[in-house]
Amino acid sequence: MENPNIKRTYSQFASDNYAGICPEAWQAMQVANTGFVPSYGDDIWTERACQHLRDVFETECQVFFVFNGTAANSLALASLCRSYHSVICHELAHVETDECGAPEFFSNGTKLLHVNGPGGKFDLDEVERTIIRRSDIHYPRPRVLSLTQATEVGTVYTPDEIRAAGDLARHHGMRVHMDGARFANAVVSLGVAPAEITWRAGVDVLCLGGAKNGMAVGEAVVFFDRELAHEFDYRCKQAGQLASKMRFISAPWIGMLEGGAWLKNAGHANGCAALLEKQLMEINGIHIMYPRQANSVFVELPEAVAAGLRAAGWHFYSFIGSGGARFMCSWQTTERDVLQLAEAVRMASLAANEH
Ligand SMILES: *Cc1c(COP(=O)(O)O)cnc(C)c1O
Repeated sequence: MENPNIKRTYSQFASDNYAGICPEAWQAMQVANTGFVPSYGDDIWTERACQHLRDVFETECQVFFVFNGTAANSLALASLCRSYHSVICHELAHVETDECGAPEFFSNGTKLLHVNGPGGKFDLDEVERTIIRRSDIHYPRPRVLSLTQATEVGTVYTPDEIRAAGDLARHHGMRVHMDGARFANAVVSLGVAPAEITWRAGVDVLCLGGAKNGMAVGEAVVFFDRELAHEFDYRCKQAGQLASKMRFISAPWIGMLEGGAWLKNAGHANGCAALLEKQLMEINGIHIMYPRQANSVFVELPEAVAAGLRAAGWHFYSFIGSGGARFMCSWQTTERDVLQLAEAVRMASLAANEH
């Protein structure tokens, strides 16, 4: 029997990292859990995981595995920059707003310059203005263009947009970094080969997300320009990001990639978000804030509706603008969860309108 004194909470839409480990990742970790193998990445599982990534990206990229996205982004940016350089990113970029200054810290002072743009995507004209605004010695020299795919507000850069960003960066002697915490969701959303929206479009290094896609822990730093990976292993070790039992971070990637679970999971999450969007659009007074292109739905909830939802035990984030709520779907979200949330929003909305 449920204890009526314990209030039920519903946190399945708070973030995609609230979900557990998917069966494919779990199974691969278990398979790797046999016998003694070399530590620090000199093992067959890590070698196989790297090879899978080379197959997926159809190129001889160089791959490193780290514990989380903050480390992946920060160390990747640090490897592209010197301390007096700057990184241009969108003002909502995770590297700017959610990494506690780690990119600046690990690069010994490289400055992030942020630009605006609708739908979480930077406006290339504004990027260019920021690049050419100054060329004197007093301005931190633009060196990297960083874009997030899928973006922080659940939109997706098209292959053309990425190519244009890549061309602009090249034109100004800059490099391109991609924060791909939700890269799989973008690949499925666009229906393109991973290579089309990375190295073929001018991306030099991709931080490929594992945790939000269904793994326990771990992100892959994928260097398409192998020269940029020079001594990156030292950077990882110094930053405390070299796992001694590396096989347990790398093996799950095999499980995710070899049967296509990474794309299946992303497709499932995107589909749940599409269903949720459809449900919410039918409710009076609820407005969708950004084009839904990946696994999240951002809605403008009247304050009373948001309060009603919270009172009913629903946990969600609303850090983007006032009144905006983010609902995030994962590999673990079910259709039942989606319909239950939609119903809760409908009820909260009805209750709010009665007052
Ligand atoms: C979650 C996320 C990351 C990684 O965050 P960690 O908590 O450091 O793993 C990076 N970029 C984006 C856009 C994210 O949403």
